[in-house]
Amino acid sequence: MEGQERPAPPASPFADGHLVLWTLCSVLLPVLITLWCSVQRSRRQLHRRDIFRKSKHGWRDTDLFSQPTYCCVCAQHILQGAFCDCCGLRVDEGCLKKADKRFPCKEIMLKSDSKALDAMPHHWIRGNVPLCSYCVVCKQQCGNQPKLCDYRCIWCQKTVHDECMKNSLRNEKCDFGEFKNLIIPPSYLTSINHMRKDKKTDYEMLASKLGKQWTPLIILANSRSGTNMGEGLLGEFRILLNPVQVFDVTKTPPIKALQLCTLLPYDSARVLVCGGDGTVGWVLDALDEMKIKGQEKYIPQVAVLPLGTGNDLSNTLGWGTGYAGEIPVAQVLRNVMEADGIKLDRWKVQVTNKGYYNLRKPKEFTMNNYFSIGPDALMALNFHAHREKAPSLFSSRILNKAVYLFYGTKDCLVQECKDLNKKVELELDGERVELPNLEGIIVLNIGYWGGGCRLWEGMGDETYPLARHDDGLLEVVGVYGSFHCAQIQVKLANPFRIGQAHTVRLILKCSMMPMQVDGEPWAQGPCTVTITHKTHALMLYFSGEQTDDDVSSTSDQEDTKETE
Ligand SMILES: [Zn+2]
Ligand SMILES: [Zn+2]
Ligand SMILES: [Zn+2]
Ligand SMILES: [Zn+2]
Repeated sequence: MEGQERPAPPASPFADGHLVLWTLCSVLLPVLITLWCSVQRSRRQLHRRDIFRKSKHGWRDTDLFSQPTYCCVCAQHILQGAFCDCCGLRVDEGCLKKADKRFPCKEIMLKSDSKALDAMPHHWIRGNVPLCSYCVVCKQQCGNQPKLCDYRCIWCQKTVHDECMKNSLRNEKCDFGEFKNLIIPPSYLTSINHMRKDKKTDYEMLASKLGKQWTPLIILANSRSGTNMGEGLLGEFRILLNPVQVFDVTKTPPIKALQLCTLLPYDSARVLVCGGDGTVGWVLDALDEMKIKGQEKYIPQVAVLPLGTGNDLSNTLGWGTGYAGEIPVAQVLRNVMEADGIKLDRWKVQVTNKGYYNLRKPKEFTMNNYFSIGPDALMALNFHAHREKAPSLFSSRILNKAVYLFYGTKDCLVQECKDLNKKVELELDGERVELPNLEGIIVLNIGYWGGGCRLWEGMGDETYPLARHDDGLLEVVGVYGSFHCAQIQVKLANPFRIGQAHTVRLILKCSMMPMQVDGEPWAQGPCTVTITHKTHALMLYFSGEQTDDDVSSTSDQEDTKETE
């Protein structure tokens, strides 16, 4: 028995081999499967990206559609997939290639040699019509059935039921709908192209066919402004307008994008800047460059859709301090159509460092909003420094405001700006001004400061006449400290009014001081700051909307306007 049992041990290496094999298999197999899957996925992604790149559509991925959606090819209900942010087609991943081949996108310029400007029929696409849209034929609600149904024209945005769609409607010419006065028709660009080939430039003739009311709108959006809200806005404007007139300024800088104006009739174009006050300044600089290039007649008027928070320039022009989707994009376009032209002073701020052997060129800034020295510049400087360090912390609007407030109050303890009146000399229009015991001086071009506070007029019984931003005058005020600054911001105190002037000169005799121009802060040693008038910008003023906390002052503004 024992002898028979002996041979068993030699079998164990074989059994061990089995075990090793099985273990290997059970570990390797899932790894291999995962690997294979990820290879497949990345291949699919590559394939999709390839379609995206070559496509005439503006395809974008989404993990979840915001409304009930049906694939335009297989008509299945889908949760995720791709959509075109020019024409609005929606499709699942599997049908993408078919959809891309089968459906043309918005044609920004007509390929065919069409002579007449009015020959374009509607461009209907089926299904996924916007919620709450109505049929042009029977006036009943459209797209309320749970399937791929009903049509929308991607130019005029008209919607129609499947059963109401007739041949006459299919062949009807498209009038570009509600926003026809803002849209650059594809046929216009085709005609311009022909004219340029023939070296003709009388675009006026061509434009006269589009009517006197035609004020084509160019969208310049900063996709990085306002926690990336600009990105979505770009798509919404491409849907409502001709995609050719919608630009992302982070990809096409304003000076390049604005060359489109030179293809439009004189004094007809308008620009809508979607971004913060900084982006507006960027666009205004580009417009000044157009003046230098001799393109003055093509310079458009500028409207603003403010992104982010505390945009004082935009607020002064009636567009509010920050847009977070409160009104639909179509309403924004309506507001732009209603807005009136207005001038905005722009100023040159020159900072010359003090010193006998100063060979460096003076620093030069263009100012639209305000210049300041003292606590509010320090606040901006601290905020700026911390934002650079931890940008992720500053991605939310509300958090931004809270952090800003925190830095504001923190500096109540740090009295770096004490006795400013002993360190600086101030000249208004060449005349020296005696200063009381101040910590800061603010020089204003516009009415609002500090994210929605009217500084010059102040509050209380004896409010001052309204500061204007087109009278060639600057308003100069002083603050007693950062606590005073904070009190002014919450409308518990008035600043010390120093005066109004056409030119302001400020000499910093000693020590390092925080300064800022339009929210761009820096620390500055002894120097001379000179602020002189530079130029006018043509802006659009919107009077239809009132900011939440300044209803009274806006109505004041209207009163003064009427008396003039
Ligand atoms: Zn498309
Ligand atoms: Zn499909
Ligand atoms: Zn149409
Ligand atoms: Zn109908």
